[in-house]
Amino acid sequence: MSAPAPGTRRCRTGGTCLTVDAMAVPTTRPVRIRRAAPTALRLSILLEAVLLAAVIVAALAVGPRGAGPGAPPPSATPAVTPSPTPTVTPTPRPSPTPTPAPTPTPTPTPAPTPSGPPACWYGDLPTAHDGYEDWARTLLDTIYRLPAMYYPGDLVDTARAGVNGGYLVRALLLDDLAAMAVAARAAGAPFEIVSAFRSYATQQATFERWVRVGGYEAALRTSARAGHSEHQLGTSIDVSTPGGPRPWKYRDWGTTAAGAWMAQNAWRFGFVMSYPRDSSTPTCYDYEPWHYRYVGRAMAAAIRDSGLTPREHLWRLQ
Ligand SMILES: [Zn+2]
Repeated sequence: MSAPAPGTRRCRTGGTCLTVDAMAVPTTRPVRIRRAAPTALRLSILLEAVLLAAVIVAALAVGPRGAGPGAPPPSATPAVTPSPTPTVTPTPRPSPTPTPAPTPTPTPTPAPTPSGPPACWYGDLPTAHDGYEDWARTLLDTIYRLPAMYYPGDLVDTARAGVNGGYLVRALLLDDLAAMAVAARAAGAPFEIVSAFRSYATQQATFERWVRVGGYEAALRTSARAGHSEHQLGTSIDVSTPGGPRPWKYRDWGTTAAGAWMAQNAWRFGFVMSYPRDSSTPTCYDYEPWHYRYVGRAMAAAIRDSGLTPREHLWRLQ
């Protein structure tokens, strides 16, 4: 095929016409027709469009999941950033901190246990067994007390037991008191009653009197606050030597004839010394060799055999 002349216009069957450039086309070489293939062009445009559409679709797909219709669609960034923070923060365990709170200690300590009384302290808790029929095991000490209205209905004068009168005791102990008085007299160690039942009001007056005598701290060691005295039971007596001074006026009434005999024998008649010598730690009171409480012959023997003070013994029965 020969080269066309410059300026010649040639057309192909497809309809594309080209003008031959005389300067650009050397005569010796065949003219090279430069044109973009229309199919490839369309394909590349189509490809770009498809790619763009794919990018848009991908961007929409990455958008906020579960967001409502009102959520901003375009930006994928705000939807990603908030999610990790809230999920991590609530996980730290708040549970161990509140648990120790509901264990306050005040109440469990004073509860009587078989292990015995605690170290001495002063409370005003109602004693557990405060019925008139509980007279033997009613615990009264610096912690536990009787109600102010506790007043046994069977109080009788001590003269009914053959001892000096003018004091009240419960009728249930008359026989044993009488027997003890007879035995003491027979042993050459007679005693007399110097105190027996004391009402709540009398205890108040008594304690206040001891406070005036030696101050509050000293009164706590020698006298019971109102409601805490075993004298309110109507089963406790203070004894002394007939015709002598009050027993607490002695250097140690426990060494007198009557005092020594009582310490040795009162238990046989159901009476126990509530505050023995060298027992202030378990009893919380000073030694009172004149103070006896009636608990019945069986319990008195048990206390004597145990070697415990009456208070320690009673703590085990609560
Ligand atoms: Zn007493």
